[in-house]
Amino acid sequence: MKWKNVEREFEEIKILFGMKNADVRLVIPKDFKVISGFALGSYWGRVDKTKKIITVKRNRPIQQIRNTIAHELAHLLFPNKPHWWIETFSYKIISIKDDYGRIGRYAKRYGHSPRELPSKKRLIEMAKEAAERLNL
Ligand SMILES: [Zn+2]
Repeated sequence: MKWKNVEREFEEIKILFGMKNADVRLVIPKDFKVISGFALGSYWGRVDKTKKIITVKRNRPIQQIRNTIAHELAHLLFPNKPHWWIETFSYKIISIKDDYGRIGRYAKRYGHSPRELPSKKRLIEMAKEAAERLNL
């Protein structure tokens, strides 16, 4: 996917989460490393919570890129949630199945169920509430 299109997905998901004017930037992996000191490596995406930047690997199917953007933004919106919750959040938001055709893979791996998270509609509301509360 062209970077310009990744940027468009980023802007759309920011709007979905009520983060239209948030001071959070999407940067290319090379710039992410310069700014944060961390390489993307084999990850699909990364976030630097202090610098408020995210990056994603662009050579992935669009749904995976959308999922990764939602995932990295969720780390900013819900800094205290465990990782399985963040994984399940983004899968529910983007409505994609994981490699095994299920949404619950990550939850199950950590002894949880995707049903522990509320509906997609409620999760979007929670994202908007968090964005407002955290001034994102
Ligand atoms: Zn993560």
